[in-house]
Amino acid sequence: MKFSEMPYERPDLEAAKAQCAALCGRIAGAQNAQEALAAAREFDEMSRHLETMAVLASIRHTINTRDAFYEAEQDFFDANGPALSEAQLNVARALLASPLRPQLEQALGTLAFEKMEVNVKASSPDVLELMAEENALVTAYDKLYASAQIAFDGKKNTVSQMGRYKQSPRRAVRKAAYEAEGAWFDSHRAELDEIYDKLVKNRTAQAKKLRYENYIPLGAIRMQRVGYTLGDMAAYRAQIKRDVVPVVARLKAIQYARTGTADPKFYDDMFFFADGNAAPHGTSEEILAAGRAMYHELSRETADFIDVMFENELFDVLSKEGKAPGGYCTGLPDYRVPFIFSNFNGTSDDVDVLTHEAGHAFADFVAAQKDLPNVLRSPGLESCEIHSMSMEFLTAQHHEKFFGADTPKYELSHAEDALFFLPYGTMVDEFQHLVYANPCWTPGERNAAWARLEREYRPWLDFADLPFYGRGAGWQRQLHIYECPFYYIDYCLAQTVALQFFTASLRDWPDAWRRYLALVNEAGCKTYPGLVAAAGFESPFVPGTMKKLAEAVGAWVEAQNAKLAAR
Ligand code: ZN
Repeated sequence: MKFSEMPYERPDLEAAKAQCAALCGRIAGAQNAQEALAAAREFDEMSRHLETMAVLASIRHTINTRDAFYEAEQDFFDANGPALSEAQLNVARALLASPLRPQLEQALGTLAFEKMEVNVKASSPDVLELMAEENALVTAYDKLYASAQIAFDGKKNTVSQMGRYKQSPRRAVRKAAYEAEGAWFDSHRAELDEIYDKLVKNRTAQAKKLRYENYIPLGAIRMQRVGYTLGDMAAYRAQIKRDVVPVVARLKAIQYARTGTADPKFYDDMFFFADGNAAPHGTSEEILAAGRAMYHELSRETADFIDVMFENELFDVLSKEGKAPGGYCTGLPDYRVPFIFSNFNGTSDDVDVLTHEAGHAFADFVAAQKDLPNVLRSPGLESCEIHSMSMEFLTAQHHEKFFGADTPKYELSHAEDALFFLPYGTMVDEFQHLVYANPCWTPGERNAAWARLEREYRPWLDFADLPFYGRGAGWQRQLHIYECPFYYIDYCLAQTVALQFFTASLRDWPDAWRRYLALVNEAGCKTYPGLVAAAGFESPFVPGTMKKLAEAVGAWVEAQNAKLAAR
């Protein structure tokens, strides 16, 4: 069905809650596994419909934020979502407590129950008030961040609009842009410190109420980490620090040499080419058409997928007035299709929509064609990002459609970006471990910890005397640290697999693609370590994996850099 024809009707949430309660009763009183499973299936069907309505309202609201009807619908879901979720969790609680659980586990798989257990543990009516306060603090941070009006280049700029100046080929512009942005953060220092302090104390209080020592184990549960431990993640961070940082340091020296930067400072970090970054050629419509052609040539599976996307209007990617900023991929479970939202801006970000977001969409599409219980439809976030980040590399043979003669430049900076991200993303995670292990730290102690981690994870950076960054407060511009604790490492865990797909595809693309399809086909039926093993890759939790990978990618980057220099 075309997106514009999909009917929307505000769901009756009271009826839905009553249905949840009735299903709980049926599960508790089931005489045999068939009866309980029938109730579980009805619950999934009801949940898919509620989700479809919520997603339709949200997509239509972001496509036109001036549409009063969908704005009201979005407010309705925002206000009533938490109570509905709680009623839905009761169904999971009933399944977990069922005396028929061994038979149910046999039918649905033990992983389904492990996942339900994690979902149930993450919340409790006892912490709902604290969670509401946490949401209000996150909103206060969002609002403050979005209110930034940084005077630069003769106009007022948001933090994200400063991005292009921070990558300017002119060094003085980059330096001034970092100074102007840092000065804005410095001028809101007290508010930024206060909001974060309250967030740390609030999350610690939630953890104590749920009987955890501190927020760290609760954070892992809320990120739905199944199949690996906090110890595994500590071992992963140690590998990044020991084995990846030296490789990145070597490649950073190559980047600075390539751009002719003699005395590199922090504001030279994102400057990759003296003649500017690779940008896609052609109009937005031409880029979209190139994307469709790319998926046609890639494989039969992706050809079917992309045709469904185009024929059913499941893209809204052109910038329009009144449209919300940013981009995302979501799913419409009633129709078994995904939807991609974005704002094309003429940079390589537009191509990312057609590789990264379409990677998410492809996985959603494949999983939706299977009849899986809702809890197994998709894996954890660390694994969803494997779908997208790997697609960025596996489509490489077709990037010429977008970048023409600039393609080798794009491939180089893409691989550099992917590898350079690992130390930063891991540092963000270790910082949060330190913060939540020491909830009484002062703002000064937090900044000192960040500055120390910068020296360990990114020793090549010189913050000189930049405002804000120079005093170790740079973490305050990383939204995830405030909004979604412990999420950030998921991008690293996913990138680690995507880079293995990259090196595998250099050796044997058809084999790498076959392994990718196998991984996507598992949907949420395996854990992160299970998916890595199913794709035939080495676990990032095993010492030595990261060293081998960083050196392989590093060698490719060096060779590609030399090839470009010789042109
Ligand atoms: Zn993503």
